[in-house]
Amino acid sequence: MNERIASIRAVASCVEGYDPDALPVDAARAAIRACLAPIAGLERVATRSALGRVLAEDIVPAIDVPAHDNSAMDGWALRAADLNETGETALTEIGSALAGRTYDGTVGPGQCVRVMTGAVMPRGADCVVVQEVVRADGARIVVPAGQKRGQNVRAAGEDLKTGVAVLRSGRALTPADLGMIASLGIGEVSVRRRLRVAFFSTGDELASIGQPLAAGQVYDSNRYTLHAMLTRLGVELADLGVVRDDPRALEDVLRRAAASADAVVTSGGVSVGEADFVKQGMARLGEVLFWKIAMRPGRPMAFGRIGSAFLFGLPGNPVAVMVTFYQFVREALLVLGGRGDDAALPLLCAQAAHAFRKVPGRTEFQRGILYRDGALWKVKSTGQQGSGVLRSMSEANCFVVLEHARGRIEAGEPVQVQLFEGLI
Ligand code: AMP
Ligand code: MG
Repeated sequence: MNERIASIRAVASCVEGYDPDALPVDAARAAIRACLAPIAGLERVATRSALGRVLAEDIVPAIDVPAHDNSAMDGWALRAADLNETGETALTEIGSALAGRTYDGTVGPGQCVRVMTGAVMPRGADCVVVQEVVRADGARIVVPAGQKRGQNVRAAGEDLKTGVAVLRSGRALTPADLGMIASLGIGEVSVRRRLRVAFFSTGDELASIGQPLAAGQVYDSNRYTLHAMLTRLGVELADLGVVRDDPRALEDVLRRAAASADAVVTSGGVSVGEADFVKQGMARLGEVLFWKIAMRPGRPMAFGRIGSAFLFGLPGNPVAVMVTFYQFVREALLVLGGRGDDAALPLLCAQAAHAFRKVPGRTEFQRGILYRDGALWKVKSTGQQGSGVLRSMSEANCFVVLEHARGRIEAGEPVQVQLFEGLI
């Protein structure tokens, strides 16, 4: 272990409520967060290819957007001072301006210029009157009363101002951001390199797809959910397959994984009573903490560091893998990848459609279906909540997050939900 890297145990144990054998969800999240630092390493990418990437520079406009005052409507540009306050005003059209084609002259007293949306405001004009209210007869233009200075004019810089940063380093780029960067004429941006994540499944009972199932075997589904969840995070993946419950094999793969990845995610082998050599194998290679988290599903979890890679040892049960990934790994990987904003999943409030069984002393992540009932958003359970019932995750569109201290929830009570859509 690198001596300069602070001990994970020392950092984690400073978190309020830290108790590895009964760790509240929030304390586990805080303990992980306290140990993480973003990876180094930048690259330049084309603006078009930067969706979801994490900015590694501030974007500071070198130009105003829009660059010029321009018309927001089709109509006539004129001088508000020329208009009669109470009646109509007749003006003379002296030319026209289109988007991309400016009018080079100056609008003088009693004059106006035909303008189309996006046309640069002709010099001298300070107001646009929409064509629908104007009477035009050749060059004679009659404008009704009630027009105001500045109306239907988009001011230069009203979207983006020269010198005022619009996006900060650490921002994960959205479609709107990319359009905004393009509006500044910037074709390339500096971003963090992609996080490298290695993952594998552990278990003697696992069969790979394509093999017939022998007695007592199950197909390795966790690698498929993990692959999919990691793909949505935009990380670079290394799928290391299935590792048997064998200390040497496990150490081998872990060593290989940690040498080439920023984070290693495994499933299985960390439960209480699990063949201890899996845990020993993990612990021998680095500093690994084995937690019993006060949550359901997903009680056992390992967190640690092997060399410079962070290890997330998730439980084996298919639902527990997903819940612990959503609740701990997702956010941790976003932070490691350089996200500077709050990457935590938002909690929304909904009404319980029926009673939910719950015991105090642990956070439960039940699988729910959020739906609309008139003006209300209600949530109902997907039914069977066993941590092996992966169908519950597939049918759900949200977690129903039942807080640590809470007991049974009655129908009609408010509950918190975390939406799946768009988050992972
Ligand atoms: P473990 O945490 O290794 O004790 O595994 C707990 C349960 O999850 C066992 O019933 C395993 O068969 C199941 N399980 C473990 N790994 C996988 C996997 N990769 N795919 C599907 N089920 C698994
Ligand atoms: Mg196992």
